[in-house]
Order: sequence, then C-alpha cells, then structure tokens
Amino acid sequence: MSDAVRTHALFKRYGQQIAVAGVDLVVPAGSFAGLVGPNGAGKTTTLSMITGLLRPDGGSAEVDGFHVWRDPVEVKARIGVLPEGLRLFERLSGRELLLYNGRLRGIPKADVEQRAGELLAVMDLADAADKLVVDYSTGMRKKIGLAAALLHNPSVLFLDEPFEGVDPVSANTLTEVLRRFTASGSTVIFSSHVMDLVERLCDWVSVMSAGHIVAQGPLADVRGDRPSLNQAFLELVGRSSQSGEESGLTWLGARPPEARS
Ligand code: ATP
Repeated sequence: MSDAVRTHALFKRYGQQIAVAGVDLVVPAGSFAGLVGPNGAGKTTTLSMITGLLRPDGGSAEVDGFHVWRDPVEVKARIGVLPEGLRLFERLSGRELLLYNGRLRGIPKADVEQRAGELLAVMDLADAADKLVVDYSTGMRKKIGLAAALLHNPSVLFLDEPFEGVDPVSANTLTEVLRRFTASGSTVIFSSHVMDLVERLCDWVSVMSAGHIVAQGPLADVRGDRPSLNQAFLELVGRSSQSGEESGLTWLGARPPEARS
C-alpha cells in the first residue's frame, strides 16, 4: 500500500522551544488516521507543516508522493484542510462560502452548485444555507468548514480537532461523512484528545509526545494488550493520573471542621 503522508525528520523550533523534534509520520493511503498527544505535544505544528501552512526548520513532508514545499500546487490540489480556529469569510452565507471556495478551486459553476447543495443537505445545514457564517454556531462552523474542505474531492483530508465544540448529533453526521469518504479509498488524518472517538473511528494511530512520535501503526498494534487506547496513551506519554496527595493538592476540597456542619 502507498503512503498518503510521509514526513522525514520534520523539525520546528520557536525560540528556545522545540515544538516538533524530528518527526517521521507515516499514514498509509485509505487510512482513517488519528494523531493523538497531550496538550503542547506538537500535533498542530506538525499538521500545519504538512499542509503547507507553516514552513519547517528542517526535514521534509510528502503527500501522495509530492513534496509539500517543492510541489506546493500539486499538494494543495490533493488536500483538504480544516485547521484549528479556522477563519471563515464571515459576511458570506454558508452557500456563498462553498460557491466561492469551489470557484477558487477551479470547479465548473454547475458542479460547484450541485456539490454545495448536496454537502449542505448532508451536513444538515440546508435550512441555514442562506444565513451569514458570522451567525453560525461553533458546530455549524465546523460543518461548513468541513464541507468547504471536501468540495474539491481531495484525496487526503487533514482535520485539526474536528469534533471539539460539536454536539453528539453533529459529531455523528461528521463521522458518517468521513467514513463514507475513507470507504472510497481517500485518507483522513485528524488530531484529537478524545481517545474513545479515536478508538472507534481510526484504523491507524500516531501518538506524539513532547515533539516526538512515540508510537505509530495500526490501532490494534498501538493498543497492544492494554484494555483501551486511553490506557495505552497514558503509558506511552508517561503520565498516569495522580491522586490529590501525590500532586500536592491536599488543600483542594479541604474545609475547616466548623464549615462542614
Ligand atoms: P494542543 O493539543 O494543546 O492543541 P498541540 O499538540 O497541537 O497542542 P502545538 O500547538 O503544536 O501542540 O504546540 C507545540 C509546542 O509549540 C507548544 O509548546 C507550544 O507552546 C509551542 N508553539 C506552538 N505555536 C507557537 C507559536 N506560534 N509561537 C511559540 N510557540 C508556539
């Protein structure tokens, strides 16, 4: 099987802080892949470098065999991106946003209109299609952002925390759309902190900690003989939950005797 994404020694430093410390990320084509790691592990920085949003200080990244920084046009034609904190054109309606994105991508007008209509319906946004994006809720923004990222039928879709702030019904809709997308042989790579979700959706997992990949492979291999991916994650990133006493929080919840009566 070919790789949808492959990075070699990808490196990024912010001043003294090494955010990504030589990452070799591999995602086979057709995977539903999860990139997981604690806060500050370097997930967003890694995804930003692979999608051409941030220039690496070292190393290289390839998407579908094309070098991200040498062949940016080839790569950008093949990828869809839903970045964290996506800025949208707030004064367009959802439908206008999709039509505008589609035209920017060079899709013929009739095709864009058809695709936009179908995506709005599947995302349950048909009733809000003519409302300005500025008036969309967080979940609606994620859905219209995902619709915009899918419009040109990318072969690899990158999603940074796509389920954050999304209600269970909308999360289900997003999941269904993404499952359909990977079933046709396309690749999804998403970052998340929600291990249950990653365990339920993904067939491939890369675990990052402190700028490094600490485990990577098919979900079952990364989980190993541990009861859950969450357990594997806690062991891999070297953090088990501490009790109050161990963490020095003995004062938390403590009340003087008279206050208890
Ligand atoms: P989270 O799960 O909290 O979103 P993450 O795994 O996506 O975290 P990054 O956002 O990639 O982590 O950050 C990795 C490290 O790089 C962190 O220590 C962060 O403080 C640092 N960092 C990220 N962006 C910048 C920036 N623009 N300037 C300075 N430091 C940054």
